[in-house]
Amino acid sequence: MKLGQIPGFCLFAILTVIGVVVSCSGPEAPATPVFPTETVAASGRQPSPTATASPTPRPPIPTATSSPTATATPLPSPTPEPTPTPTVTATPELPPNELGQVMVLEYHHIAEKGGKWGRTPEEFRRDMEWLLAEGYYPINLRDFAAGRIEVPLGKSPVILTFDDSYQEQFNYLEGGEIDPRSAVGILLEMHRRHPQDWPLRATFFVLLNEGGKAPVPFGQPEYADRKLAQLIEWGMEVGSHTLTHPNFKEISPEEIRRQLAVSENLIEQKVPGYEVSSLSPPYGAYPEDLAILKAGEYEGLSYDFEAIVKVGGSPSPSPFSKQFDPYRINRIQGFQEELDRWFGYFQSHPELRFVSDGDPTVVTVPD
Ligand SMILES: [Zn+2]
Repeated sequence: MKLGQIPGFCLFAILTVIGVVVSCSGPEAPATPVFPTETVAASGRQPSPTATASPTPRPPIPTATSSPTATATPLPSPTPEPTPTPTVTATPELPPNELGQVMVLEYHHIAEKGGKWGRTPEEFRRDMEWLLAEGYYPINLRDFAAGRIEVPLGKSPVILTFDDSYQEQFNYLEGGEIDPRSAVGILLEMHRRHPQDWPLRATFFVLLNEGGKAPVPFGQPEYADRKLAQLIEWGMEVGSHTLTHPNFKEISPEEIRRQLAVSENLIEQKVPGYEVSSLSPPYGAYPEDLAILKAGEYEGLSYDFEAIVKVGGSPSPSPFSKQFDPYRINRIQGFQEELDRWFGYFQSHPELRFVSDGDPTVVTVPD
């Protein structure tokens, strides 16, 4: 599925693999950006000329909150500091660059306690507001991996992924309403306030409660199936995080196949007509033989995955870059240091961002 063979000069070619036309207007296109290895401080670099228009400063993210209770908070929840209202006009005007890098964010806990490994609801909301104000636009992982980048002109795709299907990612309150402080509640509110600029797109890697060894997806048995169906109905993606969160380096090939085949088929059974195509291996642990993750069979149940994510580290190359591997997609961990580092990195280096040309059938690279 990769469009990996884009040479370092301009061409017009119809790439029949996924029916995409590559175009650029100048005689030379730059080589695919290479990840710098240094840590980039947001304040230490000169922004490029194209970025001077209006990169929005990232509001500070508090490290502690007073933890108001979930049920007491009306929509929209108050934030401790005034947050500028992002609008389309706040988007930095960047030229299309569809060989630029993409942030695939990896969230776990969205919980009141926050801490190093989690985000409080306020922090998570602020991450989303910052992304919106900076011209990011969420898409699902499966579309990203397949090069289906349906993102408006001038905006950058961002992929929001959630592992472990914790209840606070998608929670129903006692009254039967969606908890506005759960991740899904916050994403729904973002979409309600910015329907054009913030579609309901995110990828949830769920654990299935097979044999009672793992939590029910999103914690509430009475809502479990409904939640999976709703996510998909809204346009979001559900992928597999296996049945019981084993380490693929420590279990037999047969058990790996069971974990993959049964988890994929359970999701597809719960949501008829849906096809699971993305996988997050627990702990980011890959077995020696990658082929076993891509496709296989267990007791008559078959499975196949077209996108497999790693555990954090760096932005992903463009799916049109020859560096892109859909079976080893880089992610950025959703906690403070990493978010500061990479949000700051792209603010300082907007020229390295994937910026859409608005046409999913054409791959545009800068002159
Ligand atoms: Zn996990």
